[in-house]
Amino acid sequence: MIWICLDNLGFPDGWAEKRISGEQLLAACRDAAARKDLLDGPLAKIWRALAEKLAELSHDKCWYCETPIARDDFMVDHYRPKGKVLEDAQHPGYWWLALDPRNFRLACRYCNERRVDRRGGTDGGKAAHFPLMAGSRRAFRDDYWEDEDPVLLDPTRVLDPPLIAFLSDGSPTPSDVEDDNPDSFQRATYSIEIYHLTHSRLMIQRSLIANQVTEAVRRVDVAYRRYLRKGQAGLPPDEIAGARSAYRDAVDRLAAYGAARSPYAAVARSVMKQQRSDDRGYLDVILQSL
Ligand SMILES: [Zn+2]
Repeated sequence: MIWICLDNLGFPDGWAEKRISGEQLLAACRDAAARKDLLDGPLAKIWRALAEKLAELSHDKCWYCETPIARDDFMVDHYRPKGKVLEDAQHPGYWWLALDPRNFRLACRYCNERRVDRRGGTDGGKAAHFPLMAGSRRAFRDDYWEDEDPVLLDPTRVLDPPLIAFLSDGSPTPSDVEDDNPDSFQRATYSIEIYHLTHSRLMIQRSLIANQVTEAVRRVDVAYRRYLRKGQAGLPPDEIAGARSAYRDAVDRLAAYGAARSPYAAVARSVMKQQRSDDRGYLDVILQSL
């Protein structure tokens, strides 16, 4: 998960008008059954019409797990579930946010729907989960939902994605230690489970990226030492410049793994962070510029 800036979202021509008329229909419903008919039927095409625009923000990657979505439909997840809340049987779902783009998250099928990973022996998927932190009051209408304290990490909140780190084997883990920051630890732990970030195929893809980043760091180290040696040996300026250029190229190639459009950029950034040292000031520069 990396930060997705919702402020950059564009809208197709006429979309805003469709949203307004859809929300008027929802508000006029007499009961939950009538709302369900609308949400399961004619209104669904309104949020689906925004899928391509949402995908542009993440370079066609799932906002939760960063898997490139190349051969599947883009799914628009409602961060606050629109029809029901699994953690609260009395809740009708956040139907008043069903057409609100602030509630839309582009998701792959595995993050969005419940799926069993038979190879890895795990299951997960967001479905209608939306737990709140202890003591947080759940909103039943649109007057105070922004005061809720959600458990699930939100890719549109810049402070949330860094709460999950990744180990070299591709496994996700809370960035914070439980004793130091129990809330962040709980949010990361629960999000890893609900978004099914431990899916075995996902772990394999992440470990490949982690290995590539580790190798790229090694190449930068080698290039930097060579550049230093040539400078200290008093070689001709063009030889020193060539070594410096090779070092810079290696840094650029490493940085590309963490760029927003790269698959599993959060893994690359996390691995780079773990490999920082006094001798690797270039990692700090890369991480600050991503
Ligand atoms: Zn996903």
